[in-house]
Amino acid sequence: MSSKQLNFNLNQTTDFYEHIQNTYFDAIMMLKKSILHIGLDDTDSPNSMCTTFLAYKIVNYLKTQTVEFLDYPCLIRLNPNIPWKTRGNGAVSLSIKTSNPEKIKKKIKQLVVKYSDIDGGANPGLAFYQNEKIPKNFVNFSQIALWKLISRKNAIEFVKNNNLDFISLGNGQGLVGAISAIGYKFDDHTYELISYRRKAKFGKKRKLKKENVKKMQEKTFPNTFNSYDFKKRRILITPHGPDPVFYGIRGENASSVIKASKMIKPDEKLAGYLTFKTNQGTGAHLKNELGKTDLKPYTSGIISGFVSKSPKIIQGGHVIFEIKNDHIQLACAVYHPTKITHISSKLIIGDKIRVGGGLRKASKNHPRVLNVEFIKIVKLEKNFKLENPFCYVCKKKMKSKGKNQDFQCIKCGKKHSNKKLVEIPREIKETLYVPSISAYRHLTRPQQRIRFKNKENQFDNKIQWFHVFTN
Ligand code: ATP
Repeated sequence: MSSKQLNFNLNQTTDFYEHIQNTYFDAIMMLKKSILHIGLDDTDSPNSMCTTFLAYKIVNYLKTQTVEFLDYPCLIRLNPNIPWKTRGNGAVSLSIKTSNPEKIKKKIKQLVVKYSDIDGGANPGLAFYQNEKIPKNFVNFSQIALWKLISRKNAIEFVKNNNLDFISLGNGQGLVGAISAIGYKFDDHTYELISYRRKAKFGKKRKLKKENVKKMQEKTFPNTFNSYDFKKRRILITPHGPDPVFYGIRGENASSVIKASKMIKPDEKLAGYLTFKTNQGTGAHLKNELGKTDLKPYTSGIISGFVSKSPKIIQGGHVIFEIKNDHIQLACAVYHPTKITHISSKLIIGDKIRVGGGLRKASKNHPRVLNVEFIKIVKLEKNFKLENPFCYVCKKKMKSKGKNQDFQCIKCGKKHSNKKLVEIPREIKETLYVPSISAYRHLTRPQQRIRFKNKENQFDNKIQWFHVFTN
């Protein structure tokens, strides 16, 4: 062997050992790293801030640390019918791997205090769960928060029984969302890219071109959705309040919403954006069939039964009817903006239906009522009416000769004794009716997603799911 060859082999061996050493070191470091799940909620008020903006600030900080993101930040919409939500009842969770969880937790606590509008009425909750697998009791808690009401007392008991590191400010209601965001188990998901304004623009009118949003929707649907209402010619991506959000683009995968956001080109310079994995558009709150004992105010769910009282159109164009099954008899209200009032007004007694929605509390003037979010017509009852008999010779309806008397054709004189039962064609179909796009709630499953589920988790850390604009 030549000395040159020997040298080469030695170098190779040294490289090999160095590589093994590094891999071993990384593996040890990874083993020493903790998985930290972070849940937060209720940091905003109608006048200021937004929990997703706080998540953006937290991610901005985490990006400066040596942490590994295990998934996109998650935006979890909970029971949309609870009375004290600010807007869309959204909570946020983050899952990371870190070798210094204590430092991270301390800083996040500081950020929650800094970016919460407690004086404006926010009741922030922040919870940490330090373990890889989310236990079943977190998942159960979260599933209940999707359709029922959970008390603050329950949330406090939960964090104490599970030895969680947490903070709870104001009245502490935010802990419900914080725990639920950690415990949320997706069986379907979508994405939303939320862009944030620069501080100087908070509270100012959002300016962007309708044409751009329309074009973006046309080009990217169904990979993005709910951005533009073609019927009403309305932009749906911008909020109207003073919060830091400029727009939110929803879609089926993270890369689609990132690509679509480049087409918006707003008239102001933005601070940055964050992409969330969400349960929006999954209808997750309307999965439970409500039984008699579930009929408590603010509960969300579905009821199957028969129409037992005919629809009545009331002031404002809203429609009220009644549904009945073996256990329940309940008034249902379909509101005018949903644009399914023309369907519900055509229901008749005996129609077999399934309705989904939220229970409104009974008041002095109104009974307990289900605010309907969708109607599925399972089986239409045949509709009949009594008509004067028909003269098939003269092709004319016969006329009554007077009370309790026969009917007679005025042309040929032919007589008939009884009215005839005639079937009236139904103007509605045995299908699912969902509200108009402008009346969608965050969780409403849009028409194009009715038979579709996003099951695969597609976390791709290489794409730019978080970005801060520098100029
Ligand atoms: P935004 O959409 O702007 O983030 P929001 O509509 O989510 O605001 P919050 O200010 O977060 O409103 O208020 C919702 C409050 O309701 C939170 O305190 C949350 O913990 C609590 N909450 C959520 N789901 C339930 C539930 N099922 N039962 C009881 N409380 C709940």
